[in-house]
This record gives sequence, C-alpha cells and structure tokens, in this order.
Amino acid sequence: MHFHILTLFPEMITQALNTSIIGRAVQRGCISIDAVNIRDYTADRHNKTDDYPYGGGAGMVMQAQPVYDAWKAVLQGAALPRPPRTVYLTPQAPVFTQDMAKELAQEEHLILLCGHYEGIDERVLEEIVTDYVSIGDYVLTGGELAAMVVTDAVARMVPGVLSNALSGSTESLEGNLLEYPQYTRPEIWNGKAVPSILLSGDHAKVDAWRLEMAKERTRQRRPDLYAIYERTHPVTEKKKKVRER
Ligand code: SAM
Repeated sequence: MHFHILTLFPEMITQALNTSIIGRAVQRGCISIDAVNIRDYTADRHNKTDDYPYGGGAGMVMQAQPVYDAWKAVLQGAALPRPPRTVYLTPQAPVFTQDMAKELAQEEHLILLCGHYEGIDERVLEEIVTDYVSIGDYVLTGGELAAMVVTDAVARMVPGVLSNALSGSTESLEGNLLEYPQYTRPEIWNGKAVPSILLSGDHAKVDAWRLEMAKERTRQRRPDLYAIYERTHPVTEKKKKVRER
C-alpha cells in the first residue's frame, strides 16, 4: 500500500514514520510513505502557501493552488488512472476508528492531506477530498500528527506489516472488546505474581480467562463499547446470567 502525505512539514512525517515497525515495513517494501512538500508546488515567487482569510478573522489560510498542484503531482507521479481516496485530516469530521483503519487498508493508494494555520481554502477541499477524518475532539496546530496516527493505524492492517499476523486480530477494539491484561517475565515483580492460569499451559483455560478479563475491562473502562458487545453476543450473555443464578 502507498501512502502519500501532503504537508507543509514533510520532515515531521519522515522522522516519525521511519522508525520501529512502520519503518521496517517500509524497508521490506510492504508499504511506502511519501511525504510531499506542498510548498514545492507554490506558484508564488516568494514561496508563500497561505494568505489572509476573506471576510477577516484570525490567522492564515492555506491557498488552493499549491495544494491542488501537489495533489495532481501525486496522481501523475504514481501514474494513477483515477484519483485515489483523499483524506483531509480535520477536527470537523467523524472521529477515526479501528473499523475505518481496516477499511482504508483495502486501498492501494491513499492520499492524506494535512492542514495548518486556520485550515485550507474550502474550494480545493471540494475539488479533491473524498473523506474527512478527525482523530479526536480537540484542535491540533496541524494535520501532521493526525496523518501519522491514521497512517500508523492503517499500515498495521496491511498484510505483512505486523510480524505476527494474529496480533492485529486479537487486539483492543476487535469484536468490540478491549484487550485482556498482558504480562511478561519475571514471574514475580514488586511482590506481584503473574496470574497462575497463564503459567498452566492449558490453552483453552487461558483463552477463557482472557475473554473474561477482556469483557470485565471493557465493561469498566468502555461501557459504551461493552453495550455493543452485549448486543452482538446475546446468547453468550444470556448463558452467563443463567450460570450466575
Ligand atoms: N480553524 C480550524 C477549525 O476550527 O476547524 C482548525 C484548524 S487547525 C488549527 C489546523 C489543522 O490541523 C487543520 O486544518 C487540520 O488539518 C489539523 N487538525 C487539527 N485538529 C485536528 C483533529 N482533531 N483531527 C485531525 N486533524 C486536525
């Protein structure tokens, strides 16, 4: 899968995404991440990419022309027959979820557009954006961190990026549950022992224990998610209530 990130600060992207699991996935050729500097496409002789907002108000607005030309350059550079999905990172959108990450991971090319200052001229957004995505109900100074969050979450859903293919499917939010607690060596740390069931070697019991822990944790920490889990697992929950009586 190929990520194309349109930004005024490409060094932010390259520094952060060239390390650890994502960096290794790039080196292995499972994914590519291309940080495109919007400033390289400005037609302004002073290299400007922003201007004052019409109608007045605080801050500056990114101009349509450099954004549009940077986007067109991606299409031409990758010889794409039709425009790929283009995601504008913005607080004015539904909040990004694991389901969205999985869906976006089906694309071969994905363009992520990062705003800065007060945002981007609406006319170019209307022209090129297919999806509007927020990473949470707060306002960042720029879309770069948001684009990195989305890239990381989408990339790890691409086959081959995670060395253990199972880990993506057993983690938090899969099946509307948070993940069970995890432990590693030593067996006793700071007077606290690892739950003995995990040392039993009985995989069926370990799985059952983990499911119970995942349910309990979700019920406590994310009751909203647990309500969905209960709705989608009515038989199991009914059985549990009978058992509890
Ligand atoms: N004036 C804009 C508004 O009120 O909606 C906010 C602009 S913000 C200071 C600058 C850029 O940061 C935005 O264009 C967007 O790309 C990015 N951004 C800020 N908060 C974000 C969020 N929660 N999720 C995704 N991107 C965000």
